[in-house]
Amino acid sequence: MADNEAFTYNGGKVEPGETQDIRYGISETYLGDPVRIPVTIINGERPGPTVFLSAAAHGDELNGIEVVREVAYEWDLADLAGTLVCMPVMNVPAFLAQQRYLPIYDRDLNRSFPGSETSTGAKRMAHRIYQNFIAPCDLGIDFHTSTRGRTNMLHVRADMSDPAVARLANAFGSHVIIDSSGSSGMLRTESSASGTPAITVEMGEAHRFQRELIDEALAGVESVFAEYGLRGTSTVNWPGWRTVISDENEKTWLRADAGGIVDMHHDRGALVHEGDRICTITNPFKDDNVTVVAPFTGLLVGVLENPVVYPGNPLCHLVELKDKVRRVVEREQSGTPEPTL
Ligand SMILES: [Zn+2]
Repeated sequence: MADNEAFTYNGGKVEPGETQDIRYGISETYLGDPVRIPVTIINGERPGPTVFLSAAAHGDELNGIEVVREVAYEWDLADLAGTLVCMPVMNVPAFLAQQRYLPIYDRDLNRSFPGSETSTGAKRMAHRIYQNFIAPCDLGIDFHTSTRGRTNMLHVRADMSDPAVARLANAFGSHVIIDSSGSSGMLRTESSASGTPAITVEMGEAHRFQRELIDEALAGVESVFAEYGLRGTSTVNWPGWRTVISDENEKTWLRADAGGIVDMHHDRGALVHEGDRICTITNPFKDDNVTVVAPFTGLLVGVLENPVVYPGNPLCHLVELKDKVRRVVEREQSGTPEPTL
């Protein structure tokens, strides 16, 4: 079999069979010092696809950091067919500040791709990341969490109308895929449009390492590696049930119509039936409570974590399930074992 090729980026080269830990300059501080992001490139001896794994495009979304680090540093990749480009912390300035956006002007790095050499600070950083470490890849996974103060069940976001993206999304093996093309400047959107199919994995809450979600995501990465032949040992994962949430499904962020303190009655991932109590908004005296009920039967993909709201604040992300899937989820959540769908 032919040897794998070297991976090259501006300033370096990683030979087949070689692993490099790089600190790559993407900007400079007020002191003129470099702002550098950690990148690990693992180039297998055997040929195969080049895959990026990225996290912390939003600086306080930490779960993905551990996913990327465990793949890069704890997995046995001696037999890897292909190349891994691992970026556990893309948005270093926001990571240092433990906030979502780049601290300067609150720019969103994940709306700045593919970037530009001569534009804003965010777009210059995005450009250096994108040109060197995203564009050379054949596919990629970008890990996120819910925005601070909320949590979500692990799910994939992907443009399912693009067959190459759909293949990747299905291979990850999550229960829930939200089908959307994403926004302009989003890493997965721009990358997919330029021929590097990419998905976003959303998992849990900001500012945490959540072990069970990290393990679920690692199983997803292993399943993707199996689909594309990066590791001979693993098999593609079928999650037991799957729902692809498209525009045909009802889905909504339920918002608070009253300010107050929220008593949430369900966890992320729970199935709620039409008319079920989802949460109660209370005042300090616990009188005059406002009950929020499910407008339709569906899955609570995301829920509020920080239990205080103004009117208009989101309470939960509810998505409709088709009958067949709903019945499987009902059985699963009632603890009755049942044949998979
Ligand atoms: Zn994010």
